[in-house]
Amino acid sequence: MNDTGEDRRPARPGRRNIIRGLGLAAGGLLTGGAGFATEQAWRKEDPPTPASAASVDSWQPPDRQVDVVWAVSTRRRLVALTFDDGPMERWTPQALDALDEAKVPATFFMVGSRLARNARLVEGRLGRHEVGNHTWKHDDLSKLSLAHAYRSIHRTHETIEQVTGRAPTLLRPPWGRLGGTTLHVAAQHGYDLVLWSLLVQDRALGREPDAMVAAVVDNARPGTIVLAHDVGAASRKTAIERLPAMIRGLRGRGFDFVTVSQLRRAAL
Ligand SMILES: [Zn+2]
Repeated sequence: MNDTGEDRRPARPGRRNIIRGLGLAAGGLLTGGAGFATEQAWRKEDPPTPASAASVDSWQPPDRQVDVVWAVSTRRRLVALTFDDGPMERWTPQALDALDEAKVPATFFMVGSRLARNARLVEGRLGRHEVGNHTWKHDDLSKLSLAHAYRSIHRTHETIEQVTGRAPTLLRPPWGRLGGTTLHVAAQHGYDLVLWSLLVQDRALGREPDAMVAAVVDNARPGTIVLAHDVGAASRKTAIERLPAMIRGLRGRGFDFVTVSQLRRAAL
């Protein structure tokens, strides 16, 4: 038995499923449409070796569907603020301070290795917030084998559970990049994938903080998922410093704040 096996019998249902999963980045549904990669190409580049077994013969398709969420359809004026890449000294505590001050819940997509190192920054501070998985080292999941993707996501899952006492249910792939292996590991963990519909333009508008705030406040819609970062260069700090203004502006337009999971429960 080998797992490069060009002589292997074609078209086992499980293998087809993972290829179909690749179509999701464009199609948005795990079950939707035919995949664009040929089975042959997939096997040559990256055999779908399961994390727990040596042979593709034992590979089984996941039995759970994975949703991909950019925003939520809702009539309620709710938005979800999300913060990626922490926790780090710069600027996770500052973000938590601003959210505490305004009593606003948010969702933090954490990098597992950073959480393991910096747990003290968030311990006891996450009560109203949700924590999601952002891989172990901010990995590009579109390039990882199933075994590597599993390790990255699972290690982060366990660390989040240890530190927060709650198992995460959401995964945000770094840069929004995902592959078939991402979907498989997400299904194994009972995760759905969360992307975003509105980006805080800290890079483009970092020197024009009023415009940066206005771009968020003016463009939010019911069900918007806002992506900000609580780690990074000075422009990221500017965005965190302007968080109170964004919150005030959004409240002024009648919006209320929820975590991503709460937002999904408010879906039509
Ligand atoms: Zn990230």
